Amino acid sequence: MTVVTAETVSTPSRRNALLSLLGNDQDLYRRFCRIRDFSRKVRASEYHITNACNIRCKGCWFFVHEFDKKTRDLKDIAAIRDFVRRQRDEQGITAGILIGGEPAVVPDRVSVFVEELDYVTISTNGLKKLPMEGFERVSVLISLFGGGRLDDELRAIKPSGKRFSGLFDTALSHYRNDPRARFIYAITEDGIPYIEETVRRIRDNGNRTTFNFYSKYDTSDPLRQEHEKRLMEEALRVKEKYPDTVLSTPFYIRAMITGKTKWGSFGYDVCPSLSTAHPQHAERVANGNPVLPGFNVYAADFETLNFCCTSGHCEDCRDSQAVMSWLLVNMGKFRNSREDMIDWIELAESYWSQFIWSPVPERRPDPAAIAV
Ligand code: SF4
Ligand code: SF4
Repeated sequence: MTVVTAETVSTPSRRNALLSLLGNDQDLYRRFCRIRDFSRKVRASEYHITNACNIRCKGCWFFVHEFDKKTRDLKDIAAIRDFVRRQRDEQGITAGILIGGEPAVVPDRVSVFVEELDYVTISTNGLKKLPMEGFERVSVLISLFGGGRLDDELRAIKPSGKRFSGLFDTALSHYRNDPRARFIYAITEDGIPYIEETVRRIRDNGNRTTFNFYSKYDTSDPLRQEHEKRLMEEALRVKEKYPDTVLSTPFYIRAMITGKTKWGSFGYDVCPSLSTAHPQHAERVANGNPVLPGFNVYAADFETLNFCCTSGHCEDCRDSQAVMSWLLVNMGKFRNSREDMIDWIELAESYWSQFIWSPVPERRPDPAAIAV
């Protein structure tokens, strides 16, 4: 997650060049420096802290590809602490992204990371609340799929296979006005009619959201482009209407849905969110495209290295954090004009403002929200 690395503005000539590019706008330059200075402190890795989950989402890559069967949970808290301390002291890790399975079902393991690392984030389905006491500075990223009735259709399934209802409602009630919480909302072509209503509910609950993307159409499907266009138009419209509830910027929304920018296409060759120490990536790491320095993904035994931050199936991957990392580590591609640099600064601010432990503030509240 370190977004500004070798290319800094630490020398006077670089500083002057950047200021000139920004049209001598001191406020933009100050915003850039705030991102640069903070991101230098963040060196992240990702940890599957358990293979257990309290639901079974349809098509969940973790269970479909049997990640839960490949390793066994390390449950010994002292051994986990020893591992986290080695991550910190030997690898320089300051930020832990905790995924699963479902991290909220193992709060004692989350506590170890909170006690040993500066910055901790969990990815959760929201069914079980992460308590506030002892977890005040933990960022809570709550997954949400499709919106409206789709979320229950796709995710409200117990491990036994029994269905239930109200997963989104439960998550909203657990995290109402909770400054730690952000919804990671996977928008999809089938859910276009639900996007505005879902964003409005997030706003009315005192929360914010970042868009993720799921497409049921593969790249060879002739309908894909048409559906993508409709989805993008709606996502951009809702962003415009709820600018402070939807943290994602228009630039990011376009890149996430199409997988493209004017300077490149997202895919394995450029994806920075892979385990840098994994032997399968030797060629990729050497190809010159940036990776997240020192980033690795560990399975629940706290030993096995996973391929990357998600399934490792790169075809059509649009993992929101991977796409965002790709945009952020390529800051050099935005140095063509002031407008491009503003896109990059806004992208970076929207990214960092997801985390309660980041000093990058969110913008003013929605005027519409004040009226509620
Ligand atoms: S909550 Fe996450 S880990 Fe659990 S089934 Fe759903 S996607 Fe998979
Ligand atoms: S699956 Fe996605 S995040 Fe993982 S390496 Fe491939 S492109 Fe990157």
